[in-house]
Amino acid sequence: MSNDLNRQAMQRMANERNRQAMARNREALAASSRRIAKTNQDALAQSRMRQQKKNEQLAQALQVSSYTCRKCGASRRPGASYCHSCGAPLGPPPNSYKPGRRWRIW
Ligand SMILES: [Zn+2]
Repeated sequence: MSNDLNRQAMQRMANERNRQAMARNREALAASSRRIAKTNQDALAQSRMRQQKKNEQLAQALQVSSYTCRKCGASRRPGASYCHSCGAPLGPPPNSYKPGRRWRIW
């Protein structure tokens, strides 16, 4: 009988220890989750900034290749047929030209 009671008391103590350890683990887990969330946020913001900068550079490069005179390098005006700086014929932007297609001038 007393052996049984002893075992029950020990079991209760073990349960209590486990509960406390679990609570500590939960708290540590929550803290590390908060740290990770913060780190991810920083990394995300940095990556977003890099991506935005890259997009701006790409947009600029695209504009340069599509909208500059190949003869003098002056920027061409949208829809212009001749360079406003040197007068060279500009034609359609290089990347929109498809061989075999007729360009209709209105
Ligand atoms: Zn030109």
